[in-house]
Amino acid sequence: MDIVTLGEILIDMLPAETGKRLTQVSAFIPKPGGAPANVAVAAARLGASTAFLGKVGRDFFGEFLREVLQREHVDTRGLRFDDAARTTLALIAQPTADNNEYIFYRNPGADQRLRPDELERDLLSTTRALHIGSISLTDEPARSATFEAVRLARQHNALVSFDVNYRPALWRSPADALAQISAMLPNADVVKLNESELELLTQTREVEKGCTALLARGPQWIVVTLGAQGSYFHSAQKRGYARGFQVDALDSTGCGDAFVGALLTQLVKFGMNELDAHLEAALEYANAAGALTATRRGAIPALPTEAEVKDFLRQVLPKIGVLGAET
Ligand code: ADP
Repeated sequence: MDIVTLGEILIDMLPAETGKRLTQVSAFIPKPGGAPANVAVAAARLGASTAFLGKVGRDFFGEFLREVLQREHVDTRGLRFDDAARTTLALIAQPTADNNEYIFYRNPGADQRLRPDELERDLLSTTRALHIGSISLTDEPARSATFEAVRLARQHNALVSFDVNYRPALWRSPADALAQISAMLPNADVVKLNESELELLTQTREVEKGCTALLARGPQWIVVTLGAQGSYFHSAQKRGYARGFQVDALDSTGCGDAFVGALLTQLVKFGMNELDAHLEAALEYANAAGALTATRRGAIPALPTEAEVKDFLRQVLPKIGVLGAET
């Protein structure tokens, strides 16, 4: 397996219209979502073999989510069904194009109840990369399951990727989030975060300063996503910006997941040791996948295929020139 992702899979209840707050939208439309599940689909559409580990309710939505993963060629051997808790729902509104409002219905949701003994250990001991986020760290037993999965993957030399994906509403307090996210950092090879998450973890929005502080806490690579501006990359050897692509953005849901899925397909393709040499191309590819996702509504439905990303790059790169990272 190229990439295993672990964490929440849920139903995104998308607003029937944008420009309205959560309490003002006229209706919600159910769509498959959950960041790690999105990443598994994103990477599968981009040509990687992927599997998802997590838990849904034994209900209509849980069955629907398994069907979606299977249709997208994501291995579901590690998807568990909970008899006692429902599939999690996330109600979403988009008051402005680059700002989402969320309410999560998970008190608890099935995703929080994944236990360490339910992990599909064969997948974790053979995968080349494991990707997780912080939402499976909010509560037990999913937190222990996440740490155990990371331990197993590392033991078998897989690359561990961690999306900070901080959602304040899901945590008891910012201090709790900070403690759990900080505990995961030393276990991750690649950490992806945005500027406000960088500020939460390092008390600065200055990317160079913040990334230097994060590198000292264990990870080898830090990637900061900057919305339409693209992304910033920082390792011991290399650092720099990869400019974003100009697109007609419609909905930013799923952009970060497309970006991570694309980056991971490049990481497993080149191998960890070769990454610095292929960094510019990998970030450009990930920025393109994120930009294309912004042009369509929803998360999973918006994720581009390998052919779409390659076509997009073929069309736009001659116009804007080659992107460069500073060494
Ligand atoms: P997140 O905050 O979830 O990490 P971002 O909104 O920063 O996600 O998006 C991830 C990546 O997707 C960005 O780094 C960028 O490459 C691309 N992207 C996102 N929004 C746009 C946009 N409006 N125009 C072009 N690219 C975008």
